[in-house]
Amino acid sequence: MKVPVNEPLITDAAKLYVADAMDTGWISSAGPCVEKFEEAFAKFIGVKHAIFTNSGTSALHTAARTLNIGPGDEVIIPNFTMIASPFSVMYTGATPVFVDIDPETLNIDAALIEAKITDRTKAIMPVHIYGLPCDMDPILEIAAKHNLAIIEDAAEVHGAEYKGKKCGSIGTINAFSFYGNKIITTGEGGMITTDDDALAKRARWLKDLAHSPTKRFRHEELGFNYRPTNLQAAVGLGQLEAIDDLLERKRSMAALYKEGLSGIEGLRLPQEKDYATHVYWMYAVMVESGRDELCARLKEKGVDTREFFLPCHSQPAIAVQTDDSFPVTEDASARGFYLPSGLAITDEQIAYVCETMRSVCN
Ligand SMILES: *Cc1c(COP(=O)(O)O)cnc(C)c1O
Repeated sequence: MKVPVNEPLITDAAKLYVADAMDTGWISSAGPCVEKFEEAFAKFIGVKHAIFTNSGTSALHTAARTLNIGPGDEVIIPNFTMIASPFSVMYTGATPVFVDIDPETLNIDAALIEAKITDRTKAIMPVHIYGLPCDMDPILEIAAKHNLAIIEDAAEVHGAEYKGKKCGSIGTINAFSFYGNKIITTGEGGMITTDDDALAKRARWLKDLAHSPTKRFRHEELGFNYRPTNLQAAVGLGQLEAIDDLLERKRSMAALYKEGLSGIEGLRLPQEKDYATHVYWMYAVMVESGRDELCARLKEKGVDTREFFLPCHSQPAIAVQTDDSFPVTEDASARGFYLPSGLAITDEQIAYVCETMRSVCN
């Protein structure tokens, strides 16, 4: 049996909406689905504004520029995250400042944030990793105390809740991704979410080349073409209609994994927290040692996996000069991987993955 690490589920509604967009000629960034998708997504997340972009990375970059983050500024980021989080900050000319993570949640360790705040710090970017929300209250408290903005990187947590509020509705201005392996996908795409009218207006303007509202073809600030197409919005709209079912399936997949993998010695399964709903974007596990050999043996048996992210501070493209150590990030990065987690996976495939894990681990 072959089990890919991610096989997306394309809903019938998505196929219908795309066909309709093709038939009516609305294939570029103008078209009725964009606004409909934005409105439906804002309603789902519980925010006033949602602004569709062409990727999660561009949503994060636009969010940072919307807050006027630029050269000389610093943004606090967990060291353990997908590379788009720090890159989006670096595109603005600002510097990402890395913080180690909590060993249990793999999210930013809030207790380590304050030591990293300087008079250049402008924002904190908490990243909700692999589907589990960050414990936001301590982060919100620190941000309020130091007058910092919060940019939630919610790329991996569509629909996850922190104390009853959806991720992506808690920070100042936040970002989602709809890349092919995300909980809902538009192929490529992203979304900026905020309750702030002025920030929403500015984000919408920046992502569309910052055209002057009064004088045609005049530009007073550097804008971006981060427009997605109506076709992408059509896919998103069709996916979003099914999101409650998709989230339920994610949780039932996790339950099957939990049961099937229980009792394997040295295998650490994902943690749940009572302050949050875990949406299990990826079913992420850790072994005591020998992760790479284990994944290679799984691959031989048809089970595709992915290793955890590398620590950001050690990336050649970032190369921060720091004497700090990040023991928890380094440890997780060396021992963790995720199992096939795409929504198209069958119960039989999950059972096969668990069986294979059991035989390979022993
Ligand atoms: C996927 C992801 C992104 C980037 O999204 P793209 O749509 O691929 O640009 C950003 N942050 C995190 C945490 C992600 O997982």
